[in-house]
Amino acid sequence: MTEKLYDFDSHIKEFSAVVLKSGEDEKGKYVILDKTAFFPEGGGQGSDKGTINGMPVLDVQETNGGIRHYTEVLFNDGEQVQGEIDWERRFRHMQNHSGEHIISGIAHSLYGLENVGFHLGQTEVTLDFNGFLTREQLLKIEALANEAIYKNVPFIAEYPEKDRLKCMEYRSKLDLQDNVRIVTIPDYDACACCAPHVKTAAEIGIIKILDFYKMRGGIRVYIKCGKDALADYNEKYSNVYRISELLCAKQSESFDAVERLQREASALKHKISELKKAFIGAKISAFKPESEITALFEEELDIKELQLYADGLYKSFGGIRAVFSAQTNGYGFAICSKEDTLASFFGKMKQSLNIRGGGRNGMVQGTVLNTKEEITEFFNRSEL
Ligand SMILES: [Zn+2]
Repeated sequence: MTEKLYDFDSHIKEFSAVVLKSGEDEKGKYVILDKTAFFPEGGGQGSDKGTINGMPVLDVQETNGGIRHYTEVLFNDGEQVQGEIDWERRFRHMQNHSGEHIISGIAHSLYGLENVGFHLGQTEVTLDFNGFLTREQLLKIEALANEAIYKNVPFIAEYPEKDRLKCMEYRSKLDLQDNVRIVTIPDYDACACCAPHVKTAAEIGIIKILDFYKMRGGIRVYIKCGKDALADYNEKYSNVYRISELLCAKQSESFDAVERLQREASALKHKISELKKAFIGAKISAFKPESEITALFEEELDIKELQLYADGLYKSFGGIRAVFSAQTNGYGFAICSKEDTLASFFGKMKQSLNIRGGGRNGMVQGTVLNTKEEITEFFNRSEL
């Protein structure tokens, strides 16, 4: 079996060990050592990475026969090796995992909720509770969790004797009997957990709850702790900074500035729409139909405006009245006429041109992918 150095000292970064066994399984080549500081994958947390004798450790898994470190090479039995863990990665895992314990402990003691899921991913850290929490309750938990950091409370990991364990109160996802590792944060939490944790809460730096949503009778909470939280702050700061520069607003007033901009944009949109309606009305009044079937090309009209335009032309002049406006792909169009006349005309149009669209009650609309010349040519040779 492998002695777990991380069990009692989570800050061992380098260690020497002796190779107990090296071999190959379906995951690849591995080496089992007499002791290790590498934490294997487990409990929602990925394994440590690092090197053994300078060779990258790709994955670490715990098996009945010991902890397997997966590497690209085999080692000799009895060989003395030097292990080094990727401390950046480990410390990030500890900051987030320890932060999670504080939050879960507070949610448990304040609201009686159980943590029923934990995932420490590369970009996201989530915890699931078996009941709902409001935004206010989460803010309260976050404030208390950060209090624990200011107090610099210790994290104590131990394997209590069976009799003592029986009397202990602790959170646990599984019903464990033997060899249970308890991580205690005095006044905050006690939880069965096999992962390495910070020595004291100050190492976490900060605990930030970012988001939450309801799921399966409970709630999923997104958190970031320590360096992750600082990186998140920097990213958000950069956004707010750029928004405030762009809108010449104080950073603390950037939301109000964006809201104002949005109000102005929607007022302008409304104004443009009114002007377009007036423009269409004026165009219809000035229209001199040269034949019973006409196709007009206008710029910057959306489908609703094309419908308004074609309908107005038909109501004033009868015949078949079509209006087109260029889109990113082809032309948007609307055509109005008497219902049966339009049905047969549109049928012919679909045979001659590349059209997507349809309609009813004397109006069709859609998109045509042909050129202006091809569309005009079709209208010129059509008869009522
Ligand atoms: Zn844990």
